[in-house]
Amino acid sequence: MAFDYESLIKDLPDYPEPGVVFKDITPLLGDAEGFRAVVRDIAGHFADRGVTKVVGAEARGFLIGAPVAYELGVGFVPARKPGKLPRATRSEDYTLEYGTNTLEMHLDAIEPGDRVLLVDDLAATGGTAVAQARLVEAAGAEMVGMGFLMELAFLKPREVIARETDVEVYALV
Ligand code: IMP
Repeated sequence: MAFDYESLIKDLPDYPEPGVVFKDITPLLGDAEGFRAVVRDIAGHFADRGVTKVVGAEARGFLIGAPVAYELGVGFVPARKPGKLPRATRSEDYTLEYGTNTLEMHLDAIEPGDRVLLVDDLAATGGTAVAQARLVEAAGAEMVGMGFLMELAFLKPREVIARETDVEVYALV
């Protein structure tokens, strides 16, 4: 039987601002069985796609993306907030559910020929995922899938992502 992820994801109404219901995944990450199930489910789903790199965005994308990369036996590439990466970067601006942001990736982190899996905790508007897809495309690599712990379907992230790329979007919840 699949792990009951939802029982360990807490709703926080009006956080970080009025009208937004924030999904707090930290109880799930803090549960040994739950955390392991998340990583294994996402890695297992994409295990036969020839993934060569996993990309994850600061900060919660690191928490799930890095162990998924480890499980798949491939490298992890961080997409970070402006000014955090020490060497030459590419950057992409995007709109969030509650604000705007920019993500940067090292110029040499991904190369043409790489097959990239994006992993994040949550897809809301899909903006963060699209920004990363653009960074991967700009590097000349191929995005082969996107794996999320959770998708806020009412915000229609799949529609936004589908306008950018036709890769499979997989969400556990
Ligand atoms: P999007 O770009 O609107 O799809 O937002 C997704 C990004 O924002 C992810 O990196 C999430 O970590 C973060 N995020 C947005 N809403 C929530 C939430 O309710 N809980 C946890 N993270 C969220």
